[in-house]
Amino acid sequence: MRVLVISDIHANLTALEAVLAAAEDVEAVWCLGDLVGYGPDPNECVERVRQLPNLQCVIGNHDAAALGRLDEAAFNPDARASLLWTQQQLSPGNRAFLDGLPEKIQLERVTLAHGSPRHPVWEYLLDTRTATYNFAYLETPIGMVGHTHLPVMYVLKPGNHLARLELLQPDQAFILPEQVIINPGSVGQPRDRDPRAAFAIYDTESNLWDYRRVPYDIEAVQERMRQAGLPFRHIQRLAGGW
Ligand code: ZN
Repeated sequence: MRVLVISDIHANLTALEAVLAAAEDVEAVWCLGDLVGYGPDPNECVERVRQLPNLQCVIGNHDAAALGRLDEAAFNPDARASLLWTQQQLSPGNRAFLDGLPEKIQLERVTLAHGSPRHPVWEYLLDTRTATYNFAYLETPIGMVGHTHLPVMYVLKPGNHLARLELLQPDQAFILPEQVIINPGSVGQPRDRDPRAAFAIYDTESNLWDYRRVPYDIEAVQERMRQAGLPFRHIQRLAGGW
């Protein structure tokens, strides 16, 4: 089965459409959370994701925050302004969809979570120590996570109990290692200084991971953010991918 793996769309419909066009025909879509937050198109993005074929989707911290499940005080002023705007925008139907998303999905060989296997909604996998601990909470050979917006993988080699970090290069498809936690990067708000939208195509039979980047019309998204009165810093960062 050819699966599109996406994460951290962040209400950026233009980036999402570019990814869906570049992915071409897929039999299923696995979405690792944060459909909303930061961007100007929360309803449009949730509606687009809801229509995707054989969708498996987990909830992200921004989705949970948009539902009012988290204390707004935990967010910095810009993030809070963006969060309040998103809360006002979301339609009851899209809110209900986000509300129904699970924190973690365990498939035959793959576990999906936004942050980490241990704390699916909130924990960031940013270092090998945290990743090493997290393999103990993974009940499948493969874990797929988002949240950091960084396309990387953590690998546990046979006989070694310490995870190794590998940065990923686009357009270099490879067979996934035996025990791995991998991140496809962010569709709508990349943070690795490459502003193009990130995604991966995963083949469940061959275990091939094909990570890619696709350009999209960033200025059009920035203009919609300006019109919505979203924070300047969030508008600015899209162009630099940080
Ligand atoms: Zn995110």
